[in-house]
Amino acid sequence: MEAARGDSGPHIAELIATHVIDVPGFPQDGIVFKDLSPLFADGPAFREVTDAVVDHYGGAFDVVAGIEARGFLLAAAVAYSTGVGVVPVRKAGKLPRQTHSASYALEYGTATLEVQADAFVAGHRVLVIDDVLATGGTAEATLSLVERAGGTLAGFTVLLELEFLGARHRLADRPVHALLTV
Ligand code: AMP
Repeated sequence: MEAARGDSGPHIAELIATHVIDVPGFPQDGIVFKDLSPLFADGPAFREVTDAVVDHYGGAFDVVAGIEARGFLLAAAVAYSTGVGVVPVRKAGKLPRQTHSASYALEYGTATLEVQADAFVAGHRVLVIDDVLATGGTAEATLSLVERAGGTLAGFTVLLELEFLGARHRLADRPVHALLTV
């Protein structure tokens, strides 16, 4: 069997590969859902993955943004570990006060993400985190939101990237960091 691949090396890639469960047909036919619950539930593994993200950036960010909902988990851990704040990027209608929003196409219909207009200090370097990178639509919308809200992108980290969907190509001018690429 081929060694697991990822931007933080084969050991971290393997750690994620051994803590993900493929769920065919969820949430709909034709999708293989990557369930990373076993990774989040395993204290030492979750800590090791959090540390790998922190090491990758070497302190070169001022705040972390997590994408609803599973992105919140790793984003909060990285923020706590480095002593910076965490900002939620949420689905439409969840955030009070003034927001910026970005809509993007899904396989069926559209989705909208929002961030509070005053979430970022102008020029602060924002590390954006999600669990899975699939088509890249969510990432593209979020990265543009961060910039519209005054942040500067420090990087975009995911635990798992589905390479066959081509998100790296779509995000070609963005600094993508995937801990496991399948
Ligand atoms: P996309 O916009 O197509 O890149 O989809 C990424 C978002 O949808 C992330 O927030 C993921 O949590 C979720 N997602 C998409 N596909 C999957 C999948 N196969 N398994 C788990 N989550 C997924």
